[in-house]
This record gives sequence, C-alpha cells and structure tokens, in this order.
Amino acid sequence: MSCAPIKDNRNSLLMQASLESKIALVGLNRRELETILSEFSEPSFRGQQLFKWLYRSRVDSFEDMGNIPSVLRKNLEEKYNIHSLKLIHVTGSTGESTRKFLFELQSGEKVESVLMKEGKRITLCVSSQVGCAVDCDFCATSSMGFQKNLSVGEIIDQFLQVSKESISPITNVVFMGMGEPFLNYDRVIAAADLMNDENGIKLGAKRITISTVGITPKINRYADEKHRYKLAISLNGSSQESRLQTMPIAKKYPLDELLAAIDHFSSRSRHPVTLEYVLMAEVTDSKEDAEKLMTLLSKRRCKLNVIPYNEIGGKYKRPEDHVIESFIAALDKASFPVTVRWSKGTDIAAGCGQLAIMESFVNK
Ligand code: SAH
Repeated sequence: MSCAPIKDNRNSLLMQASLESKIALVGLNRRELETILSEFSEPSFRGQQLFKWLYRSRVDSFEDMGNIPSVLRKNLEEKYNIHSLKLIHVTGSTGESTRKFLFELQSGEKVESVLMKEGKRITLCVSSQVGCAVDCDFCATSSMGFQKNLSVGEIIDQFLQVSKESISPITNVVFMGMGEPFLNYDRVIAAADLMNDENGIKLGAKRITISTVGITPKINRYADEKHRYKLAISLNGSSQESRLQTMPIAKKYPLDELLAAIDHFSSRSRHPVTLEYVLMAEVTDSKEDAEKLMTLLSKRRCKLNVIPYNEIGGKYKRPEDHVIESFIAALDKASFPVTVRWSKGTDIAAGCGQLAIMESFVNK
C-alpha cells in the first residue's frame, strides 16, 4: 500500500520527462514544418498555416490552431511541444521601462532577455548562448564560462514569450544579451530570418541588430552573404594594445584584421556598421583614446556608440559624468556620428554586460 503513491509519483515524473523531451515547434521554418507535416501525410499548405499560428498568432496551445484539423492537432501534440523555453522569473513590473526575463531551457540551463522601453521604441535584447566563451574582462556573462549554444527555437522563443508580456509590440531586437552571436552564427541568422519573415513576426531587417565582439571570419561571411540586419561590432579600445588589455579575443583577431573585415562589410553593404565603445575609467576614457579613435575611423563609414561602463563589482569602474562628457566633447570633430548609450536597467542588473545567471538568484 505504502508503495502506491511512490509509483504514481514516478509515473507522473516519467510522463513529465517524456513531455519535456518532446521537440519544440518554435524555431522551425516553413520548409521544416512542411517536412514534419508530411510525416502525417498532410499537404504542404498546412506548413504555412502552422507557421502563421506559431509566429503570427503566437498561440500557446494546439487547441487554438483553428484551421488545423483536430486529428492532426492531436497527432502533433503527442510528439511536439509549441515552446522550447519556460519563463520562470520576471524582474520589474508591467509598465516599468526595463524588465528582465529569466527562462529555463528543456535541458535545465537558464538564460535572460531584457525588454526596454524608450518612447515608442520597445527593444528586446536576446541571448544567443548560455554563458560565453569569449572572456571579455569587463563583462559579467564571461564569469559563467561557456555552457552551450542556444537553438533557433530557444532564441526565437525569447521573442515570442516576451512579446506576450509587453504592453505594446516589440519594435526592435538586439542580439546583445548573453553570448557571442557570431560563435553561434547559423542559428542566430536563422532566428533573425524568422523574426523578419513577412508571414510571421514581420520585424523589419533594420530593426534587428546583431552585435559581435569581432569574429572576423564571420564578419566577412556575413558581408558576403549580404544579410540586411544591422551589424554592431564591439571595438572597446582605440588601438590593438588597448583592445588586448580587456579583450583576449583581440589576440586571435587583431585590430588590423578587424578593420579589414569592417572595410569588407562596408564594401558590400549600403548601411554603416555601428562600433560600440565601452567607456571604462582610466582604461578607455582618455582624450588620447578619443583622438586615436578619430584617426582610426576617419575614412570609414560607421557610427560610434559610446557605452558608459555598467559596473559589475569587479575591477573596472564607470567614469564620472564629467569625464564621459569630455570624452564625447573630444569627439566633436569626428567625421562619423557619435551616440551615447545610457544603459537602462542597471538597477536590476539588466544593463549591457550585466547579464549573468547567479545561482543565488536562480534558487530563489
Ligand atoms: N558578445 C557580443 C554581444 C554581447 S555584449 C559583443 O561583444 O558585441 C553587448 C555589448 O555590451 C558589447 O558592446 C559589450 O562590449 C558591451 N558590454 C559588455 N559588458 C559591459 C558592461 N559591463 N558595461 C557596458 N557595456 C558592456
């Protein structure tokens, strides 16, 4: 008798495990959905119907897929899940300008996305990897080490699930959360393509920005493939020495190679590349740095986005406001546009480079 509840419990745990090991439909493109439907001898137009349910209507259950025959809905449900992520925690309440979303993968790891509101612009910052292998000295994500690449589904599901929590539609997506997008290149591009698809989410290509630390072979590939998503590159130093000081990756992909890749991109794209420059006190914030940047970029078609450092409790500090202002003033004569990103959400560790899954937070 006393064993019965245990057995029941085990059965339900097994059921749960098998549920969790189902394949998620989100992340699949039209052709892949058609292949799945052909297993059930369904005509290919059902692929388009399913695509629209997933990405345009963004349903959470098979039952809601009105024009899909009920037998097919049941068959699909037996083998597939809709979502690939479980939303487990939201920091910040509806209406606040910055909110952070913590998701659990089917394999148990966690990733975060950040939703930012500024006027009419609602930007979602998505993660492309669990942790990061790049090891920039100033970034919180690097402390997690590299755990895994996210699948297309795990990237796109951040968008689908957060879009339901947002009071107005998401207008922009930036691949600036955890991870290095160009070390998960194919999946990141496939996820951006899904966001851009006119039968689904329909986000304009210019509203999607992919930010890379500077993986030069992938920048060249991106240029050759002529993708139309905006490209941002984390320069974060005014010379090879200065980049190397905080970014060990600069050894593998030195500045001259990076500049060549930037030039190659410019020769293939009508759009300027954005160079991100994190301003760290006494590391990257001198007037000489500003001058070197002007020389380095003078003949290049680019924009410079200066990001005052968001502190993470380590050795780097944010420069004082007057230093930030003089740095910007020193760039006054630059031949390229200069903008400053006053990161949002630093109070909830949701600013650039502050994303890291702390066990203490996860276990709460
Ligand atoms: N791996 C990608 C995208 C993630 S980081 C990349 O390197 O571009 C997104 C941006 O935040 C990068 O420009 C990065 O240099 C910057 N960043 C990282 N840590 C930061 C911090 N603590 N404060 C401000 N910006 C930071």
